Amino acid sequence: MPLHSSLYSRIFSRQALTLSLTWTLFMISLFAWSAWQKKEHTLRLAEGQAQSFFNEIVYIRAWNTLHGGVYTFVTESCCPNPYLKGPDTLIQTRDGRMLTKINPAFMTRQISTIAAQRGKIQFRIAGLSPLRPGNLADPWEAEAIKAFQSGKVSQRFEMVSTNGNPVFRYIAPLMAESRCLTCHLDKTLHKGSILGGISVSFGAAPLLQTLTDAVSTIHLVFTLIWLAGLGGIMTAISIIQKKQAEVEQANQAKALFMANMCHDMRTPLVGIQGVADRLLARHLSPDNQRLTGLISSSAGSLLEIVNDITDFSRLDQASLQLHPTPFNLNEMLDNALHIFRFASEQKEIAFKVLVEKNVPENVVGDEFRLRQILANLVGNAVKFTDTGEIHITLSAGPDTAPLPARFSLTIQVEDTGPGIPPGQEEAIFASFYQGDSSLAKKHVGSGLGLAICRTLATMMGGTIAAANRKEGGARFTCSVTLGVQDRTQMKGTTQDRKRESQTRPHATKKISRAILVAEDNPLNQIYLREILEEAGHRTTLAETGTQVLETLQSGTFDLIFMDVQMPEMDGLETTRRIRAWTGPGFSPRIPIIGLTALTHEQERTACRTAGMDRCLTKPVSETKLLETIATVCPEPAEPIPPASPERTDALPLLDAARALEHLGGRTALYLRMTATFLNTAPDTMLGLEKQCSDGNTSEVLRLAHSLKNSAGSLGLMALEHLARDMEETARHNDLPACAEHCAELAICFENTVTLLKRRTAP
Ligand code: ADP
Repeated sequence: MPLHSSLYSRIFSRQALTLSLTWTLFMISLFAWSAWQKKEHTLRLAEGQAQSFFNEIVYIRAWNTLHGGVYTFVTESCCPNPYLKGPDTLIQTRDGRMLTKINPAFMTRQISTIAAQRGKIQFRIAGLSPLRPGNLADPWEAEAIKAFQSGKVSQRFEMVSTNGNPVFRYIAPLMAESRCLTCHLDKTLHKGSILGGISVSFGAAPLLQTLTDAVSTIHLVFTLIWLAGLGGIMTAISIIQKKQAEVEQANQAKALFMANMCHDMRTPLVGIQGVADRLLARHLSPDNQRLTGLISSSAGSLLEIVNDITDFSRLDQASLQLHPTPFNLNEMLDNALHIFRFASEQKEIAFKVLVEKNVPENVVGDEFRLRQILANLVGNAVKFTDTGEIHITLSAGPDTAPLPARFSLTIQVEDTGPGIPPGQEEAIFASFYQGDSSLAKKHVGSGLGLAICRTLATMMGGTIAAANRKEGGARFTCSVTLGVQDRTQMKGTTQDRKRESQTRPHATKKISRAILVAEDNPLNQIYLREILEEAGHRTTLAETGTQVLETLQSGTFDLIFMDVQMPEMDGLETTRRIRAWTGPGFSPRIPIIGLTALTHEQERTACRTAGMDRCLTKPVSETKLLETIATVCPEPAEPIPPASPERTDALPLLDAARALEHLGGRTALYLRMTATFLNTAPDTMLGLEKQCSDGNTSEVLRLAHSLKNSAGSLGLMALEHLARDMEETARHNDLPACAEHCAELAICFENTVTLLKRRTAP
């Protein structure tokens, strides 16, 4: 980014603008307050000045009143008061000079005249009905005197405009003295009555000028402080943002490192697990079986943790995106809970699922991620609960009738386990946090599951929280927002998928393909070749992109499995070259299925953009591999002669990879479940045979159902299929068919148990 544009973006960043605005508003408020304070101070100063002048006059008047008036010589500037009556108003001295009596009112007027002449301050006596008409109050004074008389106020101070000039005016009441009543003959007057007021006024301009100067100084000081603050904010933000950018860069480098490391770990781990699984399917000595089982389960546990870290690093980088598609909520629930129902049966914990009636069945959302949340919450409940029950409830927001386009789905998982250590209900959602109880230390985990769930729930517009139940145990409540399918979306989902899944497994087994496997990892090579060749396909290996192009020209192939990350020339470049091929030897349209250890959507998009038909994420289950071949190669090639006319031969006895996929790669759990199955299933089978010969179809139904569930959880494909058939026949009370199925089931059961025992023998 160019320097100026980065500086520009820093200055105009939201943070900077918000802080600057707040600082500016603060400074404006502070300035306004200071200016107001200054003005108030000036007014109080002016008022005080007026008050002290008023008091001076009042004291001088009091002195005059005390002496009953004073005599001065009659001069040009001091004529007798025409409004003062009485014999002693004018007296003559022995030397013939005339003395006149100056009463308080006359004296006040004379001082007023002197003050007015000096021009600084003016004052006068004002009354509503004065003896001297010149003392008649003006409207401002009259209003004040009336207010004094009514007792509302004791003084009035104001700044008014007189002839366009600002003037401070002050007036306070003038009380009648007993001597005043000799002239003021109004009967209603008595000592202490308000005769009028002494009104003081002086120009406000000098004080206002001082005020303006002071406010200007304050303004200047505040402007300087504001600018300094603004500079400080910008500098601080710039430093913080620089640091943030550095941290972000470091985080991205860390996330990239994590993603690459996860990829590098997943690839060999998937290989180890795949090869170990293939080995387990062979006739190994019991010791080797046990050791290989250990390799497989250890690789599975490690893969589980790597998967969590991969998801977490993607969430950390915010590169994980949701991919909403239409799906059937009940089907998702069945698939996701299947394995946990079985696991809790093994632990003899009751497993209850309640889907409230208002929950729409056909919804739109990211099925995979919703399932991940559910599996995590239920998986934890099963993991931490040893007795009692697990209760899962799905409910929809209250506004779902009539169905809106979107609704809030609430998933509640309750258990009767030990509960969450008190005070850690929130902390357990932090990444890598497993609580400080010894309980968490007893169980395998990364401490990332709930952190991932919270981020996913937030991305789905919802929340997740944990609490302890009063009765004991934990309660996890998660809400997410889902769409509701419209009619057009519904057509493409449930029925179609059911139909598809019913036809696929049979189709995958009937055609032999020539497949070019482009994979550099030796473990993955073995895994892929084993599965493909066992399914009757012919494989050729290539380890680099260059080898792929050479091999394609030397043989005929139906499709390519292309590892995305290969040395020399990666799978994407190789695909691009194949698609752009114009020479002889092979068709540029040959189907290409990408194989990647990364689960990013970007990786899939890159595969599609390069021209691949499909992109599968490792580990790829056997079923998925074979299904994909059937999907991308619809044209019949060389048919594989059926090994046996039996219907169930089309299905493998065991697809451990599929079961592990449902279990989220928890191999240790899978092995524990297998051991339990080997302990309990023979009794179920015996019971089934007995109930069948007794003709008790309801018991047959129950036992076949249980066997079907157990077989499904362990990937015992043929057994699951036959048990399902048996369940259906029992449901229709078809006893002869039941007996027939039972014999077939017993053989399949024997074969399955033998295979399982071989694999898990100590
Ligand atoms: P982990 O992989 O350790 O299970 P999680 O993020 O799924 O990681 O869970 C974090 C911690 O939360 C667990 O280690 C455990 O202490 C606590 N926890 C989760 N679910 C439950 C539960 N149902 N009952 C009791 N504690 C639980």
